[in-house]
Amino acid sequence: MQMTDSKQLYQEVILDHNRKPRNWGVLEGATHKAEGHNPLCGDHLKLTLRLDKNSVDAINVEGESCAICKASASMMTTVVKGKTRGDAEQLVQEFRDMATGKLDHEHQPHHLGRLTVFAGVRDLPTRVKCAILPWHTLHAALNAQESTTTEADADPMHTPLGNA
Ligand code: ZN
Repeated sequence: MQMTDSKQLYQEVILDHNRKPRNWGVLEGATHKAEGHNPLCGDHLKLTLRLDKNSVDAINVEGESCAICKASASMMTTVVKGKTRGDAEQLVQEFRDMATGKLDHEHQPHHLGRLTVFAGVRDLPTRVKCAILPWHTLHAALNAQESTTTEADADPMHTPLGNA
């Protein structure tokens, strides 16, 4: 795919998910929840999800965030819904690796599918945390941490996800 095409696709996805964020709001009957903060940008997300037989039965996000964070969160909910907890955690890892440049999504195996539209953030250091925040928050929710922040991540390239 040419650079101009991927940039255009990226902008279309960001615009579309900001106009119509999917699974937006607070979920009734959530079994897991977490809040995520990105002080660098001011992003603040609340994530609620329901696990049923170890699969993500439903997942919602709401909050105040910039366009990249909101689009990433919205698309995340559509991709993670129906996945097992293990598959969801794998996507968290892969998205992080892609956004920080550790994963070469064009040459290495992964399960990111259309989420690769966010690969470009690795060239925008100040936006990496915005794109990753929803995924950090999902990880926190699945591991029963009530809140997470990107603040401790002095360098997003070298941030351990913790022991899942
Ligand atoms: Zn942001």
